[in-house]
Amino acid sequence: MKPQKCPFCRSSVSLIDSAKVFGCSYGFIYLCNSYPKCDARVGCHPGTITPLGTLADKDLRKWRRKTHRKFDPLWQSGVFPDRQAAYKWLSKAMRLPLERTHVAMFDIRQCQRAIACVEVFTRIRQRVSTKVTNPC
Ligand SMILES: [Zn+2]
Repeated sequence: MKPQKCPFCRSSVSLIDSAKVFGCSYGFIYLCNSYPKCDARVGCHPGTITPLGTLADKDLRKWRRKTHRKFDPLWQSGVFPDRQAAYKWLSKAMRLPLERTHVAMFDIRQCQRAIACVEVFTRIRQRVSTKVTNPC
């Protein structure tokens, strides 16, 4: 879905070449029209104008990166067979529909919830594997 309004300042949003913000182009981005006062933006899937998720300001981008750092190892290190399976689990854990369970769509509270879910999951898993390896 193409973003119409900036969720942070309610300005309109434009589709521009990322070179306008970053100096070099890596495709299109949706940028808040109040830029640079508001720097909410979202990138696009490579070679398309389909947004990767919802617009994020600096703070939200930080939280999304943090969430990726916690969540990605779950499928990268083989806890789940693949990324899709990990997102399926997260969608159940967060009680969110699967199509809305993407870090690029999360707001700060959802990022915090996702991180908490991964932490609980990891703790339980460690306890279980400790039990298996040390029966007494
Ligand atoms: Zn804005």
